[in-house]
Amino acid sequence: MPELPEVETVCRGLSAVLEGRCIVRATVRRPDLRIPFPQGFEGRIRGRMVCRIRRRAKYILLDLDDGNVLIIHLGMSGRMVITKNAGPPEVHDHVLLTTEGGIEVRYNDPRRFGLMTIAPQKGLDNHRLFHHLGVDPLSTAFTASSFSQNLAGRKTAIKLALLDQRIVAGVGNIYACESLHRAGISPRRKAGMISGKRVAALVRSIKDVLTEAIAAGGSSLRDHVQPSGELGYFQHSWKVYGRAGESCSCSAGKAMAGSIKRIAQGGRSTFYCTQCQT
Ligand SMILES: [Zn+2]
Repeated sequence: MPELPEVETVCRGLSAVLEGRCIVRATVRRPDLRIPFPQGFEGRIRGRMVCRIRRRAKYILLDLDDGNVLIIHLGMSGRMVITKNAGPPEVHDHVLLTTEGGIEVRYNDPRRFGLMTIAPQKGLDNHRLFHHLGVDPLSTAFTASSFSQNLAGRKTAIKLALLDQRIVAGVGNIYACESLHRAGISPRRKAGMISGKRVAALVRSIKDVLTEAIAAGGSSLRDHVQPSGELGYFQHSWKVYGRAGESCSCSAGKAMAGSIKRIAQGGRSTFYCTQCQT
């Protein structure tokens, strides 16, 4: 599933070809993805200029010149593919956007858990997709003090708090595991019981891990491909995710093989080091 760095990577790739350009044709090749396309979808996009592309949690937002926003979520397997003079659409190419200049952006999604809809820019924070979302981890509003306040009194495990979209929006499973490892915090620790100093370290780790992953072009996992068709490669930097049974970097030179464990939390896999995460 594309996580925040992958979605940010897609946003940047799309910005390069769509911002400031007019969409001269929109073609929808089926009635729905996870939810139906809104009525008149093709006509509402046709002729619109894309003023700006931005991200909210794991949503891609295209600000159009009529005051509306085209909202895109990649779901489990959605990809945006940028093409020029491409052949006929493939079976899972569900939406085609053609710009002036003949560049085509194709939304391809074999499993169709993604979505596309249109909403007014005004009041977007109150839209049903966004009203519950907490702060973006890369925004300046996500600070040690705001996060500490938010975690105070919470008895849930910190790993689950990081995945709670109402607390912080878009961290995702891989980056929650990696950030906790970097901060040296056990994923099982009660969220409200972590000292302010360690929360500050966690906030820093989250921002750093996400920023590094974006710089690496997002992790290429299953179906994620950058719009340019390149694969991201941050997975080579994972320290704990997917590495159960391996020894952690903290045990270099010591005989502590197998210090990375996998446990289940909230139905998701957590990977962590039993030695350096406390
Ligand atoms: Zn370790």
